[in-house]
Order: sequence, then C-alpha cells, then structure tokens
Amino acid sequence: MSEENLKSMADLVAHSKHRGFIFQSSEIYGGLGSCWDMGPLGVELKNNIKQSWWKAMTYRDDVDGVDAAILMHPTVWKASGHVDNFTDPLVDCKVCKSRFRADNIDLSAPCSNCGAKDSFTEPRNFNLMFSTQMGPVEDTSAKVYLRPETAQGIFVNFPNVQTTMRRKLPFGIAQIGKAFRNEITPGNFIFRTREFEQMEMQYFIKPGTQAEAMEMWKELRWNWHLENGLRKERLQWKKHEQLAHYADAAFDIEYQFAHGWGEMEGIHSRTDFDLKQHQEYSKKNLNYVDQLDGNKKYLPYVLETSVGCDRCMLAVMSDAYRTEFPGDAEKERVVMRFKPSLAPIKAAIMPLMKKPDLEGPATALLRELQKDFKCEYDTAGSIGKRYRRQDEIGTPACITVDFDTLTDHSVTVRDRDTMVQERVALDKVKSYIKEKFSL
Ligand SMILES: [Zn+2]
Repeated sequence: MSEENLKSMADLVAHSKHRGFIFQSSEIYGGLGSCWDMGPLGVELKNNIKQSWWKAMTYRDDVDGVDAAILMHPTVWKASGHVDNFTDPLVDCKVCKSRFRADNIDLSAPCSNCGAKDSFTEPRNFNLMFSTQMGPVEDTSAKVYLRPETAQGIFVNFPNVQTTMRRKLPFGIAQIGKAFRNEITPGNFIFRTREFEQMEMQYFIKPGTQAEAMEMWKELRWNWHLENGLRKERLQWKKHEQLAHYADAAFDIEYQFAHGWGEMEGIHSRTDFDLKQHQEYSKKNLNYVDQLDGNKKYLPYVLETSVGCDRCMLAVMSDAYRTEFPGDAEKERVVMRFKPSLAPIKAAIMPLMKKPDLEGPATALLRELQKDFKCEYDTAGSIGKRYRRQDEIGTPACITVDFDTLTDHSVTVRDRDTMVQERVALDKVKSYIKEKFSL
C-alpha cells in the first residue's frame, strides 16, 4: 500500500473546513483577512494541545502558571520597547493604495499590484500593535494596546509569583493566551495571523547559568514536539546568528510545513533586559534576594520558551494528514494519524443499523464512554462510509454494535491506523481503549 503526505496548504484548508476543524472568520460576510475560527473539532484538538503543553510545563516542581489580562498598563509597552521599536517599515503605492513592507520589495521596481512606476511613498514606520481606548473618554491618555506577546504579563508578575509561591531560583512562570499583531503580510492559513495564541514560559535563573538552562529547555521542548507525534525528520533547529538586542542566545524549533520550513517555537536567553526595563519604568524594586548566596540582591536572568499554539496545531495537522492508496480505489482514504491523546474525538460508537435493539446498547455504551472521552455517535450510511468519516477526523477507535452484541455482549473495535478489528466485551471497552491508546 502506498501513502502520500499532505501536498499543499490548500488541501489542508479544504479538509479543515469540510470536516469542521477551522473556518474562515465571518465567512458569511466574505471573511475577515487572516482571521480563523476554530470549529467543533478544531477547538478539541487545540484544547488537547494546550493541555499537553500545560501538563508538560506546569506539572513540575519548578514552574507555576498564570493567566494575565490581555489589556495592560500602557507603560508596559514603553518599557518593553514595543511602542518605539515594534514596527515594520511600510510604503504605499500612490496609484492603487496597496501597502508593502519596504524591506520586502524593490522600491525602484514598478508596483507589483498595478504596475505603476515610481509610485511608492517614502518608507515610514508602522507600529504592529493594535490600540484601542479604555473607558468612555477618547483621548490619548486612555489609549491601551492589545498585547502583542504574553511574556510581559509574566515579567510584571515576577514579584507576585515569587513571593506568594515562596519561590527560589530557578523557577518558571507559564502562560497560554491570545496575542495580537497587526501584520501587513499574514498568510499560510493559521501560520501567521493577526490574532493568535501563545504558550510561553519564562524561567528565572541566576545570572551566569543561562547556558545550562538553555540546554535543559532545548532538550525538553524538542522532546515535547516528538511526544506529540511530530516526525523527527520534519523538525530542525535554527540558531539565530543575529540576536535581538536583549538576547544573548536564541534557537528556534522549525517545522517543515507545506509552504516550507517555518518557526514553531523559540527558545531565547533574554538576560535581565525585561526586568531591568520594568524596574526602571515602574520604579519598583524587582531584585531577587538570594538567600543561598549571602543575601545578594540581583535581577534574575530569563530563559524563555515560546511556542505558537496555532502553528503547533498546524504542524500537528500537517503531520497527521495522509492519503492511503491500497490499490483498490474503493478503499482509498484520507486519515488523520493524530496521536490518540490529541485526537478531537476518541471513539465513535456505531450501531450497525438504526434499530432499537442495537441503539439501546449503543447509547448505553456512549453514555459510559462519554464520562471519560469525547465521543461521536454515528448511525448514518454504511459502516465503511462511517469509518472513512472517522478516519478523516482522526478518531482512534470505531466501535460497532451489531446483532451478535445482543447475545455475546461484545462489540467490534476497529483501529484507525491498522484497520484491524477486535472483538471486545462491552464491560471491558473503556479500559481496552484507555490502555491501547494511552488515554
Ligand atoms: Zn500600485
């Protein structure tokens, strides 16, 4: 049997819509550019990815979680450098009004949209933060921003978490949340969007220990992606040769998407830049008192791990997508080979026919499994068709209730990947699935 991987992003966009993973935002109004809505299966998959990350990052001795507000004091973004430096240089075409990033195009060439010559304005800096007004008065004093990164919500809470949780270095603070950037060139489905979700952790450490912290987190984060089922040959490290002004080392984990290699996670050594800035702008003492080192006072260094939740989901979906060609056209199938713990639906319960005799035990089994898993109940079409539908959404187990069930109190459990069917006693189905799929 031959099989093919995902061939193009367009195939995944179509499949995502067709099977209820991801929809264009505001679709009935023609859509809103580069904004996407998670459908019923997408939200399950995304929640499972978030849960996997949250467990890996916070079910540890040395990391606490927070969930900071999206709106923050405007001075936060002055201190972080976003007000002054978070900009792209842009030019407009004076003829067709198209807007381009000045560093992405040849300014002496004709406009790629309308063909006009010498039509570009002078480049000007355009801030990528979305701003809005807080409260009833519209003036500059009420201007607030939608956060462009979740990290600052962690930095400003460093003293709160350190004291309330009685933390000693090294320790981390983790957060999952939305961030917003007014990107001029978003695209590639959910790879680059203006509203996105980050999963970030800032690990506060003693200055001088950043190299060992980097090694530890590089290994943990790399392994997390493998544990989610991503294929190793589609992952690679990229070392930053040019470092941001605040960083002293930076590595990215890249995934080979259908449109090419792209950053999925950054692991950056940020020194004490952020805490120093917040100490200066807030005029609050953010020093850590190191009781293990003669009560020395200093600002901790920070090792950051930052993964794009949507990009991670895109990688998980791209990686899982296969088309199988068994040689028999009838049996061709698209199958999402999700790791079962990430699959949106864990089990589909299918009475062979829509008859009360079969639906009785089938719904009883559904109720029992639903206590632990997200399940689907499907009575429509032939069993073969129902299997295909579940394969396309990556359901690990399909459970058929047939006429034999009425006498032998067993059901057929069919494995998504091998398509092998096994007879399992009704009262053992839950433990069988839990064990087989490590749920
Ligand atoms: Zn133009």
